[in-house]
Amino acid sequence: MSTLQITKSEYAAGVQCSKRLYFLVHDSELATAPGDDLQLRFKQGREVGELARARFPEGSLVTQTGSAIEKAIEITSTHLSALQVSAIFEAAVRFKNFLIRADILKNNFDGTWDLIEVKSTTELKAEHLDDVAFQLFVLRGAGIKINKVYLSHINNKVTFPNLNDFFIDHDFTDSAIEKLPEVELKLRSLVQIIDRPLPPEQAIGRQCANPYGCEFKSECWKDVPKGSVLELYNYRKRNPTKFDLYHRGPKLIQELGEDVELTRFQQVQFLASKTDEAIIDHAGLSEFLAKVQHPIYYFDFETIAPPVPILNGMRPYQRIPVQFSCHVQNGPGADLKHHEFLASGTPGSDPRRECIDAMRNVFTTPGTIVAYHDDFERSLIRELAQQFVEFSDFLLELEKDFWDLEDAFQNHFYHQKFGGSCSIKKVLPFFAPEMKYEYLEIKNGGQAQAALVRLLTPGLLPEAKDKLRKDLLTYCAQDSMAMVVIHQKLIELTANNIRFLRQG
Ligand code: SF4
Repeated sequence: MSTLQITKSEYAAGVQCSKRLYFLVHDSELATAPGDDLQLRFKQGREVGELARARFPEGSLVTQTGSAIEKAIEITSTHLSALQVSAIFEAAVRFKNFLIRADILKNNFDGTWDLIEVKSTTELKAEHLDDVAFQLFVLRGAGIKINKVYLSHINNKVTFPNLNDFFIDHDFTDSAIEKLPEVELKLRSLVQIIDRPLPPEQAIGRQCANPYGCEFKSECWKDVPKGSVLELYNYRKRNPTKFDLYHRGPKLIQELGEDVELTRFQQVQFLASKTDEAIIDHAGLSEFLAKVQHPIYYFDFETIAPPVPILNGMRPYQRIPVQFSCHVQNGPGADLKHHEFLASGTPGSDPRRECIDAMRNVFTTPGTIVAYHDDFERSLIRELAQQFVEFSDFLLELEKDFWDLEDAFQNHFYHQKFGGSCSIKKVLPFFAPEMKYEYLEIKNGGQAQAALVRLLTPGLLPEAKDKLRKDLLTYCAQDSMAMVVIHQKLIELTANNIRFLRQG
């Protein structure tokens, strides 16, 4: 029997991919550190966990973590035998070499306990059953009598301030019991795998993206060449899959045979893969650009979406606009004016209302509102119109003025450097390589969200708050300025009827 230990998260990793488990146990230095967006998700998970514990006010939290695990096991064991606490939070239980921290063990005061696993999702997921089944396996193995197994997740129908029914509990007892033989078999195979001297052979595949990606992607995907078939845009629900194509070869889009059916966009990718030049539909692009009317508002929102609602009428994970940047050009060749908004974070203030006020100061004359992937901005504006009916006429009129710059790249312009994506982060370096997000303190949307949450959390020191505000304003301004630059380059391109743009 292995001397290596398998925890709940390692078991989940092993179910996803045995190589991931192996790396976690033996080669964790190969992992990419969690980014700010993932850290934010961990933090939000902890907040949801705390809310779940509040349902059992007499419960006792086992606080010891890390190297104090033996102490945590001892304290849990004491609670389990004394039968005095109504619930144990973060209960530490070991059976053989398998270790769990159970979110909640609820005392039934009849010698049995209920296991309650808390998830910060708003729906059930397939991997949740693996999670509770593994915990049940360990608890039973350790001799703890479990009466019921519950999976508790967020109810996305509740609205602030009435959060009484924030959790929905699902009885997973029968399904978890049925899965126990499978858990046992799986553990046997995982133990053998981690006992080997080398990682298992495991080809890259869909598991690398499920359920939340994999921290070892930079290791396993390091030999995937640029321009590979894995870059095929929107190649979903197809047989053979993208990974089938990749593993059977040829690996490059430019080498694909006629037997592979491609969508219009994928055919453009195929054409683009054979040249260093952009593939441009000049007529379509000119027609599309002609729809833009002055004044032009280059507009970008930043949002937060906390699992626990904080504002009246808000649902879990509902996006709240708390920042925007808008560059305005009032006429052809006119200088740009820049407007920006960042929620004050003043206690009692509603950032949505502050945002609407700021928008009313910017959008004074009808024109074209340029956004990138405008579904996002438009849906936020519709939600604001629902929540603040007194401004719905203004907001719904705005929604009609949007024009999506991303459509230029979805339909009329593609270069192989975009790597099968039309996102602004891929497109911008092609047109303006000097406008690098890496130079900024906040480099991506995930970091911006995390920073916005920090900014709006009470208790931040004034200097830290000032710095955060400055970094956020710089980041958001770059997003709207990026649209200005890309739009202007496209105008130049069509005005001069440049047939092909040389690789930048
Ligand atoms: S990147 Fe993919 S193949 Fe590699 S360990 Fe992660 S899930 Fe497994």
